[in-house]
Amino acid sequence: MYSLPYKNGHYGQFGGRYVPEILMPSLIELEKAFNKYKKDKKFLKDLDDLYKNYSGRPTPLYFCENLTKKLGGAKIFIKNEGLNHTGAHKINHCLGQILLAKRMGKKRVIAETGAGQHGVATASVAAKFGLKCTIYMGARDVARQRPNVFWMEQVGATVVPVYDGNQTLKDAVNSAMRDYIADPESHFLLGSALGPVPYPEMNTFFQAIIGREVKKQCREIYNIHPDYLVACVGGGSNAIGLFYEFLDDKSVNLIGVEAGGAGKRNAIRFKGGKYGVIEGYKSYFLQDENGNTLPTHSISAGLDYPGIGPGHAYLKETGRVKYVSATDKEVLKAFQLLAKNEGIISALESAHAVAYAIKLAPKLAKNKNIIVNLSGRGDKDLFIITEALGDKKFYEFLKSKV
Ligand SMILES: *Cc1c(COP(=O)(O)O)cnc(C)c1O
Repeated sequence: MYSLPYKNGHYGQFGGRYVPEILMPSLIELEKAFNKYKKDKKFLKDLDDLYKNYSGRPTPLYFCENLTKKLGGAKIFIKNEGLNHTGAHKINHCLGQILLAKRMGKKRVIAETGAGQHGVATASVAAKFGLKCTIYMGARDVARQRPNVFWMEQVGATVVPVYDGNQTLKDAVNSAMRDYIADPESHFLLGSALGPVPYPEMNTFFQAIIGREVKKQCREIYNIHPDYLVACVGGGSNAIGLFYEFLDDKSVNLIGVEAGGAGKRNAIRFKGGKYGVIEGYKSYFLQDENGNTLPTHSISAGLDYPGIGPGHAYLKETGRVKYVSATDKEVLKAFQLLAKNEGIISALESAHAVAYAIKLAPKLAKNKNIIVNLSGRGDKDLFIITEALGDKKFYEFLKSKV
């Protein structure tokens, strides 16, 4: 697409493949398979069947009538990716990658996970396709997200807690990479539109279904023009998946929302981040003067990451996408407003996009339309939200269980 030129594995000065020599053959094999199968009719049909029959696509585009009335401005619509199988958009690239892994004759997949959403989606597709699956997860995340660990194990994955560093996502990525280096015959099922070539382009391709559906739904169901598209940005896969189809249409405003966290503790790569080469690709990273990534913070584990996909770094530089942030506090308020007015329980990541839409809508005319990508549903955040809201009855319940 014109607005996101991709040349030699780069979007402008971002992207590339900077990995240990030993991984090059595997990543080149993957790139070749992707370039072959993305044009293969049978492959695309198999993927489409899985999107429909395994994951439940197309996900609804839903008009938030109550929320719109309450805010008194532009109309707010939600693209509900949370209704996907396993609860988020992650399944879109997991299905694509597992089909490629099968075509390449892989027997095992390796993945990293933070909150566990990508882990659950990966473990599920591995179960369905009969591949062995090892998921690396920081020991602190294992402790915080026990329900997802349990589900990964139930569908047959081995979950390995990582005790290095901060014991969070970055450390899980490093351990997963070490496993991959030791066993490059496995498929590394990476969970966002970042990392070395071909992951950013490949996951963008698999996530672009979101924007294609939105375009069709706007036209066929509502007969509206999508004036604003809003999505949260962790690594960037759900956002680029929503934006991709619209990049060339300048009448559509694109907005990515980063994790504003709490004061100085945040994950706003486009504010505090600097250009660098980390974890195999060139992009913006929150890093110290030695190029080591800095600790980040967000109430949502999925946005709590120092790096951002190279496509987004490019779209930021060209100004095609505007990047903003929402704080933990704003996110909790947005979560509650959506729940109370529409009966929709949003993932905390996605509530970042809702938080921005809530600020934007009253400033716009009533004939404007805002599409918010609800990247996931909130079930996984039960423990974080009950704690943040100080729900005593829930604590009584937990105590009664031990
Ligand atoms: C993982 C996750 C994200 C962040 O990842 P992106 O690659 O930026 O989309 C956002 N929302 C949910 C629900 C997630 O699980």
